Amino acid sequence: MKFGPSARELANGHWREILVAAGIDEDVLDGEHHPCPLCGGTDRFRFDDKDGRGTYFCNGCGAGDGFQLLMKYQCTSSFVEAARFVEGYFKGQSTPIAAPAKPVQQSSAQDDRKRIARKLQKAWAESLPLTAGDPVYRYLTETRKLPIEGLTNCLRLHPGMGYFEKVKVGDGKVGYKKRGTHPVMLAKATAPTAQPVGLHRSYLTQDGKKAPYAKTKKSMKGLGLHGAAIRLYPVTGAVMGVAEGIETSIAGRALTGVPTWATISSTIMEGFEPPAEVKLLVIFVDNDHPDEKGRRAGFYAAQVLKERLEARGIQVILVVPTTVGTDMDDVWQVRTAALTDQSPRVNLYAGTACMRAAQTIAARIERQGVRSTVRSYAPTDGETLPHPQRHAA
Ligand SMILES: [Zn+2]
Repeated sequence: MKFGPSARELANGHWREILVAAGIDEDVLDGEHHPCPLCGGTDRFRFDDKDGRGTYFCNGCGAGDGFQLLMKYQCTSSFVEAARFVEGYFKGQSTPIAAPAKPVQQSSAQDDRKRIARKLQKAWAESLPLTAGDPVYRYLTETRKLPIEGLTNCLRLHPGMGYFEKVKVGDGKVGYKKRGTHPVMLAKATAPTAQPVGLHRSYLTQDGKKAPYAKTKKSMKGLGLHGAAIRLYPVTGAVMGVAEGIETSIAGRALTGVPTWATISSTIMEGFEPPAEVKLLVIFVDNDHPDEKGRRAGFYAAQVLKERLEARGIQVILVVPTTVGTDMDDVWQVRTAALTDQSPRVNLYAGTACMRAAQTIAARIERQGVRSTVRSYAPTDGETLPHPQRHAA
């Protein structure tokens, strides 16, 4: 990586194509006034690309060069990560969203990807950073009693998105019926290549409650979520956490201090890829009830991820609430409501190499008023193994 031209030299004069590869709509990079890809608006943003440095100016969020635009768009404070994306782009590792990978037969699939990318881009551009008192702020701080300090701008407010439900329209066909328009907590999912690949929606009411539907969380059609995550906190060191839900991730971080990303689903968690610097991963496991086949999705995903990463020399600690059917957000809710008759408890499972780290994390959890026990993770020990097929907690 140190040989050859620097990422800055590589990128100079090529910022438009790099930023399009990162997922920014090429239409806003033509030098005219447009909505800002970072903070929205209608015409506040202009990409002037002075001296080929990718410079831009925004009346809403300020000015910068190509690296600053890329880092802000990718929700990272790490120049190294942005530089890696640029180097990857020139090595052909970062497939540009808008550029055809297989030029001839794939054209309709390419059009499809481009159309999806534009939809995602549009929704993101329409969303706003969180401000005190807005519906997302109230949902997190008042309804969920979660701390929001330190969150990146991957979590934003969309002021109004349509809520659609599938309905039968006759002849066995299915259509969509609009039920209402709601503020949405919009969360950006980012691939390991640092490309934004999806948006997750939590439908809310104006006063920060869940919208009045059975299913209030929906993902927009994305560009392939394998290995992706919502990068809720900056990861700057060798330790990070991962959980399924956004609220669960925020709760896990609040209880341990470990910056934690959300994968949204157990399936996506199985394929999660931490940044290269990470040497210790804390998995906040959802203690799911067994499904009809006896499989417990949260444990299963954690197990698959753990085995894959341990094979690469990454240490893994599992943090598991002891009550079946709960996750770390439930632990946080019970702790915050101070329901002493059911004070929450978590188990930490660690291998010998990360036992001390697990004890440090357990001590932090204890200081937050949650009882915690560290257990050795020995795959042959039926008593302590939170096996995906076992029913006991
Ligand atoms: Zn802006």
